[in-house]
Amino acid sequence: MHYTILDCYTDEASGLGVPPYLGTYPRYLFGKFKQEGHEVAYLTIDDLRLWKKYDNIKKETSEKEKTNILIYNLTNNKASEVLPETDVLIVILGVHVPGKYLTALPGTLHEVIPLLKDINCKKILTGPAVFGTQLEGGKFFEKEDLSSFDDVTNYDASFEELEKYVLEGVDIIRQIPDRRVIEIETGRGCNVGKCSFCTEPLKNSFVNRKKEDVVKETKAYYQRGARYFRLGKQADFYASDRPIEMLKEIREACPEVEMLHIDNVNPNSVVKPGGEEITKAVVEYCTSGNIAAFGVESFDPEVVKANLLNTMPLIAMKAIKIINKYGAVRGENGLHKFLPGINIIFGLLNETKETHKKNMEALSQVMAEDLLLRRINIRQVAVLPGTFLEKHGGNKFLRKNKQYYWKWRNEIRQKIDFPMLERLLPKGTVLTDVFTEMYDGKTTFCRQMGTYPLVIGVKGRLPLKKRIKVKVVDHMLRSIVGEEV
Ligand code: SF4
Repeated sequence: MHYTILDCYTDEASGLGVPPYLGTYPRYLFGKFKQEGHEVAYLTIDDLRLWKKYDNIKKETSEKEKTNILIYNLTNNKASEVLPETDVLIVILGVHVPGKYLTALPGTLHEVIPLLKDINCKKILTGPAVFGTQLEGGKFFEKEDLSSFDDVTNYDASFEELEKYVLEGVDIIRQIPDRRVIEIETGRGCNVGKCSFCTEPLKNSFVNRKKEDVVKETKAYYQRGARYFRLGKQADFYASDRPIEMLKEIREACPEVEMLHIDNVNPNSVVKPGGEEITKAVVEYCTSGNIAAFGVESFDPEVVKANLLNTMPLIAMKAIKIINKYGAVRGENGLHKFLPGINIIFGLLNETKETHKKNMEALSQVMAEDLLLRRINIRQVAVLPGTFLEKHGGNKFLRKNKQYYWKWRNEIRQKIDFPMLERLLPKGTVLTDVFTEMYDGKTTFCRQMGTYPLVIGVKGRLPLKKRIKVKVVDHMLRSIVGEEV
């Protein structure tokens, strides 16, 4: 049978599948159906838009226009040729932690359902959308009529089951012309928290993937030509199966890897005995620009308690210091080796004006102690079905405090992010392996490949998808202005 995977991109607390990331969902399903003996094609929502909304014509943008990110991430396949031949269409969709995406826009149910209306085949919806989806923070999940799908299926397989076909999925990258960061899954569920907003404990009970299997999958993609990896899809990298050996073995098996980063880290694990050893290994074996994404969410103890969050402010501060102690060294691509990043969420239970004050106090302390933070991620909570938050107040605090969010966010951006960025990347710093990605008017926006990469604006319209070197010439609130060198 002809199976087609339509990737509308996914973003979850524990996993990113928005280009330049290639998530686990399409890769695993590609492997599964191939092993069952089917022909499998991979399409993105961009391929579908190009056919249905742009008549298969991709126009060059004029100097006044932005690059059209709705059709930026095309595969080697044409939706207009593949879909009429398809017997079963698997639609992967779902955003749980909406972000801002420079070169992609995830498809929503609202967009995709009408686009697929006249495609005659079996249609199955899967991905995080099985648990609800919402592309915009601060809103309830999308409520769409799903009757045009023949089925809504959760294909999640146990690691034991997955290992039987995961390596068959590697060939998917032959259908993708651009660079992709392959996110390798290291664990599921959460060993620490029951955070009020999070679906991870609802989806999976805590289980680690075996170190050997993590190394094997990474190596298989490396051998097919992939050079960018994030060991992600976990609540806490430090709690993975033998993380030090894992990193060492990956580095040995993939000597020319250009990016090897991790994702989430629980600050409690960093301060625990053994935490410093793992920190040192991350610094030694991963590539520069790496971030320990700390899901602190709030420095207000009242909010921490009410939302069952796992990190008290004191622990967060201690963990920030430990990562700085080993990781705050400039690495080969111009960024520091390994720094902490902080996630903050607005709209949690018991949030008051005091919450913002507490957040500012903690972040100011980081500044005062000359510590480095690579990025602060602020978002409004998405209220997802089945969560503690949905059952104990829903969007009550979001509604109450919404009027302050712009002000709160802006204060963090102005007083913390901006001086921090100047501290991280003083004018004159040279960043290497920067890729030109898209135009906005006469500016080219670029990034390095990485976990939460910095956006770099360069004057002029440079050829896209090229690797350049950039010197820092100025700072914006959360991005930098560079000059090609
Ligand atoms: S620590 Fe909290 S946010 Fe992170 S995965 Fe666990 S429950 Fe979810």
